[in-house]
Amino acid sequence: MTATPAPSTETVVMKFGGSSVADPDKIKHVAQRLVDARVRGVRVVATVSAMGDATDGLLELARQVSADPHPRELDMLLSTGERISCALVAMAVHDLGYQAVSFTGSQAGIITDPVHTKAKIREITPVRVLEALERGRIVLVAGYQGFSRDTMDVTTLGRGGTDATAVALAAALGGSCEIYSDVDGVFTADPRLVPDARKLERVSYEEMLEMAASGAKVLMLRAVEIARNQDVPIHARSTFSDESGTWISHPEGLEQPLVSAVTHSADEVVFSLRNVPDRPGTAAAIFDAIAAEHVNVDTILQNVVHEAAELSFSVPQDDVAATHRALTEAQGVIGRLQVEEISDLGKVSLVGAGMRSHPGVAALMFRTLADEGINLRLISTSPIKVSCLIPRPDVERAVRALHAAFSLGAQ
Ligand code: ASP
Ligand code: MG
Repeated sequence: MTATPAPSTETVVMKFGGSSVADPDKIKHVAQRLVDARVRGVRVVATVSAMGDATDGLLELARQVSADPHPRELDMLLSTGERISCALVAMAVHDLGYQAVSFTGSQAGIITDPVHTKAKIREITPVRVLEALERGRIVLVAGYQGFSRDTMDVTTLGRGGTDATAVALAAALGGSCEIYSDVDGVFTADPRLVPDARKLERVSYEEMLEMAASGAKVLMLRAVEIARNQDVPIHARSTFSDESGTWISHPEGLEQPLVSAVTHSADEVVFSLRNVPDRPGTAAAIFDAIAAEHVNVDTILQNVVHEAAELSFSVPQDDVAATHRALTEAQGVIGRLQVEEISDLGKVSLVGAGMRSHPGVAALMFRTLADEGINLRLISTSPIKVSCLIPRPDVERAVRALHAAFSLGAQ
């Protein structure tokens, strides 16, 4: 083994997404990046996603075996994807002449709540990680998974969960956090749809939260939440270049951009409930049942016409079955409702911290979509975001039109 420089006290947590470890050559490339960082003298902890779309493959396999796979067994299955990539990267590091050791989430001390397929990290007790770092090793931690002390079972953190692993490890180890993927950073819009989309140098935590919640795929929403709560700056950058990417941190400077980005998603499903009794407790009964199914509700709208309320809300495609279960449960409490499910919708959103103090963004957004002949189904806002649910086939056109109308492109 080559002599490695004495480990410093500075720790970096490097996360590599599935496309960065998709094949043996890419795995060797990642190993080289880890060794390069180690040679610079920092302590290196890396967490990797499953190879390519291995997680989708495992999910598909589960569905072929069972129409409704048991959640505990699903987590046993899905957590293997990250164990594979993590062990392979450790082998590749060994071959470069450096010491590495790979850990499962539970070996790394990642303790979660017991909610299978959507577990939240409660704490990290990284005893073995620290011990290995002390001995100068490069540490690999299988992403996207943890262990529940309540049930003594393996859990997974939800799709994209390796981001959460990375940020939580950085917080626990007092290190910095670098998220590597096949894109150069966070853009003003999806560059696959908008050729002149621009890479953003900096994005505030709150903007990134809104962007992740409204469809930006670069970072998992919960990872950004952990980063904001624990004050961990994130550097989102490319695996395949040395260029600096986008920093996600507290805002700097006095002025914030009016609009930073246009985001979109294509998997919105809206539930519209009619004849909801207009009395205290009905919304509570409905959303208690929905929360018990761990459904991520986004937009909620209610209005009352002639003593009955009409209530609409949107959920991601993946949560549709759970939403149906919840509505059945709620109707047991409040009586029968008329339920309509509208599934051919998408969402476009504008996000910008400066919106808070500048009116007019919503007006220009609606005007732009009107000029494109696009019909708006639901509108929702936060202080720094305006979202419109629109017909799914219109989403790409809407993104391009808004990006141009707000002059977000490269100048
Ligand atoms: N492999 C998991 C997924 O595809 C977790 C991750 O990539 O972060 O969602
Ligand atoms: Mg993945």
